[in-house]
Amino acid sequence: MRVPMIAGNWKMNTTVSEATELVNEMRQELDDIDNVDKLICPPFVSLAAVRELIKGSSIKLGAQNMYFEEKGAYTGEISPLMLAELCEFVIIGHSERRHYFNETGQIVNKKIQAALRVRLKPILCVGERLEEKEAGRTEEIVTEQIGSSLAGIDALNGLIIAYEPVWAIGTGKAATSEQANETIGLIRRNVAKLYSEDIAQEVRILYGGSVTAANATELMSQPEIDGALVGGASLKASQFLSIVKQTAEI
Ligand code: PEP
Repeated sequence: MRVPMIAGNWKMNTTVSEATELVNEMRQELDDIDNVDKLICPPFVSLAAVRELIKGSSIKLGAQNMYFEEKGAYTGEISPLMLAELCEFVIIGHSERRHYFNETGQIVNKKIQAALRVRLKPILCVGERLEEKEAGRTEEIVTEQIGSSLAGIDALNGLIIAYEPVWAIGTGKAATSEQANETIGLIRRNVAKLYSEDIAQEVRILYGGSVTAANATELMSQPEIDGALVGGASLKASQFLSIVKQTAEI
């Protein structure tokens, strides 16, 4: 059985004091919810503070990005080794990084390899753009992204995949539960081809894109969907808690 995960991607929001306040608002209630992995991914500068606040709780911590080199003259970058001391997960290949910061499949692949080398668990994001969806290319795009991101990686070691159609991120237009379930099923079949049926049945594949308290039960009830990567709604304690609670009740 795959344990569902609800992950909050705070993106470039919250100062350290705001992050502290947000965690304090939901820590106790989140900690009390069983049968769902609860993950928060604040900005780098808040990781250490949030780590202290959630110590001893069941809440997990992740970063939103990293560079692929372990150390050196890369001014302004954050390395896998630095993150490994602070958190368990790292989001890699988010569409905002692919589009605003020109992250290619090759860069995403290097980052995944680098994360796994230091036992960080990557959350690999894939998803098609609106024009690709409209041209009927969802399957082709997602298959290509999975293949290039996982090239040369023999063991997934806790890696999670997030299917995030770009047209659904931050737009208020979530994929329908059928669309999300179908594409996640396709991703799982890709993982089976690249690895094995057993690994495909083990890997958790989340849906991301305008998940809110209003659509969480419908999306999370689908058999292929193992949880959600939540952006906007993860910045409101009541919304995030509601999404986690609804998932726990399914
Ligand atoms: C995201 O940032 O990964 C995301 C899914 O954002 P939102 O929930 O705001 O669409």
